[in-house]
Amino acid sequence: MTTAPPDDFAERVLTWFDAHGRTDLPWQQNRTCYRVWVSEIMLQQTQVATVIPYYLRFMARFPSVDTLAAAPLDELLHYWTGLGYYARARNLHKAAAVIMTTHDGVFPREPEAVMALPGIGRSTAGAILALAHDMRLPILDGNVKRVLARYQAVAGWPGTPSVERLLWRLAESCTPMSRVSDYTQAMMDLGATVCVRSNPRCGQCPLQSSCSAHAQGNWRDFPGKKAAKILPVKEKVFLLLSDRHGRILLEKRPPAGIWGGLWSFPEFAYTEDIDGWCQRHLAAGIEDLAVWQGFRHTFSHFHLDVRPVRAHLQAGAAAPVMEPERFIWYKADEEWRQGVAAPVARLLQTLRNELTGVR
Ligand code: SF4
Repeated sequence: MTTAPPDDFAERVLTWFDAHGRTDLPWQQNRTCYRVWVSEIMLQQTQVATVIPYYLRFMARFPSVDTLAAAPLDELLHYWTGLGYYARARNLHKAAAVIMTTHDGVFPREPEAVMALPGIGRSTAGAILALAHDMRLPILDGNVKRVLARYQAVAGWPGTPSVERLLWRLAESCTPMSRVSDYTQAMMDLGATVCVRSNPRCGQCPLQSSCSAHAQGNWRDFPGKKAAKILPVKEKVFLLLSDRHGRILLEKRPPAGIWGGLWSFPEFAYTEDIDGWCQRHLAAGIEDLAVWQGFRHTFSHFHLDVRPVRAHLQAGAAAPVMEPERFIWYKADEEWRQGVAAPVARLLQTLRNELTGVR
């Protein structure tokens, strides 16, 4: 069911915002496109409470677009470690370079130019410009989709083009002519704190009296779900190899794809000859093999079952690496300052503790 939203839709949302909206988030202070942009990228797929400490550390190190563009990607990925979805960080870095070269270091104000930056879609561009410059642009992030889909009982999965088009039209018609920045924040807050995924707090919602899903008692049906798919499973061995100097072998992953550009342990198929690989790449065999507790890490499109195999390089081996750009021997008692994915960081810490005698 879809009808035009009532004229006072935005007014009700703004009145609620004045009483209950969030105004103390770090990116709401000293509001600039750069600060809002970084927050919007971090907030994609990640909740506010998780983002805040990352955001504060990030801003302390990269306070402006030029500091971000000038930093090595490895360092940026280090600041992103634990947030996941690392393509976001790589795109931030690429976009900072584009802003420096194409826009004289100034974040653009034209929606088309913002959307042309790597990693920024229509909703994120709208949010940045609405929040930072009060420009009248709609947003349609996950929270707003949920509010609008329930409010108007919009059937179907929002990833379907026709449903998405309908939701964009609704988002446009609901956006007010003034106080767009507050309205944008209000809609995000409403979705995050009131019209939440499970058990929405309809009694506290400013839209309750005209909300279709509330009237019909079927909020669970909106937004419509994507047909469930069974994720394939991939299996990998992670080689946790150390040498006689207490150094750990790490491998840099290719720039694109899963954990692209991050450091990880050398990875093998379950059936691969690891000793043979070490002979070829390190000119030495391995010994003292032990299999650690395995774990599953789930990506959006597959499960990764990891079997960590702990091993020592054979005593007396010189342990050179044949491809220094791709492999390094990292000394376990030194601080690690480059990007690793969260499951790798946990294994690395356990291994460091073992090698440095920490319990
Ligand atoms: Fe969501 Fe309930 Fe508000 Fe409707 S009334 S928008 S279902 S919180």
